[in-house]
Amino acid sequence: MTKRPTATKARSCTGKIRHETRAKALAHLRRLIKRGYVRLSAYECKHCGGHHVGHRPKPRTRR
Ligand SMILES: [Zn+2]
Repeated sequence: MTKRPTATKARSCTGKIRHETRAKALAHLRRLIKRGYVRLSAYECKHCGGHHVGHRPKPRTRR
């Protein structure tokens, strides 16, 4: 098995486009949404201090 120790960082930071500000991330997000990528969201990154656009976490199916 291949276990990646930095799986969380790799998923949420490395390999993603880094935006300096939330505004830039949101602008990019809007462009992607227009293309049909609806299930995305912009979030502040704990690892690099920038902002990334990524897939939304699975919607909680409560109730
Ligand atoms: Zn990051």
